[in-house]
Amino acid sequence: MTQKKPATIAVRTGIETDSQFHAVVPPIYLSTNYSFPSFGDVPKYDYTRSGNPNRGMLELALSELESGSGAVVTNCGTSALNLWVSAFIGPNDLIVAPNDCYGGTYRLFNTRAQKGDFNVLFIDQSDQQALESALAKKPKLVLLETPSNPLVRVVDIEETCKKAHAVDALVAVDNTFMTPIYQKPIELGADFVIHSTTKYINGHSDVIGGVIVTKTKEHAEELAWWGNCIGATGTPFDSYMTLRGIRTLGARMRIHEESSQAILAFLSKQELVGTIYHPSLPEHPGHEVAKKQQSGFGSMLSFEFNGSMEKLKEFVGALTLFSLAESLGGVESLICHPASMTHRAMGEEALKEAGIAQSLLRLSVGLEDSEDLIEDLTNAFNKVQETV
Ligand SMILES: *Cc1c(COP(=O)(O)O)cnc(C)c1O
Repeated sequence: MTQKKPATIAVRTGIETDSQFHAVVPPIYLSTNYSFPSFGDVPKYDYTRSGNPNRGMLELALSELESGSGAVVTNCGTSALNLWVSAFIGPNDLIVAPNDCYGGTYRLFNTRAQKGDFNVLFIDQSDQQALESALAKKPKLVLLETPSNPLVRVVDIEETCKKAHAVDALVAVDNTFMTPIYQKPIELGADFVIHSTTKYINGHSDVIGGVIVTKTKEHAEELAWWGNCIGATGTPFDSYMTLRGIRTLGARMRIHEESSQAILAFLSKQELVGTIYHPSLPEHPGHEVAKKQQSGFGSMLSFEFNGSMEKLKEFVGALTLFSLAESLGGVESLICHPASMTHRAMGEEALKEAGIAQSLLRLSVGLEDSEDLIEDLTNAFNKVQETV
């Protein structure tokens, strides 16, 4: 049988697997412990930190969606990243990460490196020279985040994996922005895929969660051991909710994308909009690579607001259908000012180096009707222009 398409895997995983009552949708098992059938007879699940049926089903879905051999579901995306470094890196080892990665990832790696847990090098991974000189230092781990946050920079996964593997580094791709609907890093050579399932995977802004999917079975076993050891694993309730969210992943990603395209076309005609960052734009530096490795462009976009900080604040305040909030990938549209919100922990200098300007605004385009979203943006731009 041919491998099913992601949307089908998302809908069908675990359906009709209940042998007791034949429930079509798999039930939730909240029990913290499972009895041993007899003395010394270890059951499949014994204690919920180390494993439980709901987490197992979600791991199966995510592993199949990402073409992996196994997965470990964690209690958040950050703990998935922390689990990854905890399992594979020691005090003298180096990790290479993008300088415009998710703010919390930057804080995690930077703080742990300062404590002496490992070394970290943050670079612009789309800069080939910076990448080559970082790889010459023989890192143990390389993290890619493509498209990155918030500038949606694109890195060539296949090429970078080849170069990293040549120096024996293991590569993980944070695939939170694309999801397996639009990008399959393991098929492009990555050893791991990491998600904040908090975002598109769950998709309803009501669960915090994460996952590491592995290319090899051995890495999955190693990470499962470490996940249990450091207590990074996800709960049954969160796993149940996330699998419920995943059911509609294919359909959601399609509408997210359609609406973003409409909004991009609108933004490109606005006087108050400067540079727009989105991989679908032909002038975006990563456009060609995105076309090669992604089957969609996604619905995260950023733009420079062409006006004073006062006007920017007024614009954001005038919006009614874009909530001013962190996070992304939910059904509701969001607007974020990275420099003062998601990325403030980076500090002024690192922000500047990563090219994240004070005038940058990031949109997570939700599933409201795109005509309503555009009308809302129109009203907000008009309001700011009236007071010029
Ligand atoms: C949100 C996010 C994370 C962190 O995930 P949490 O679930 O918030 O811990 C990591 N990477 C990216 C790209 C994210 O957007």
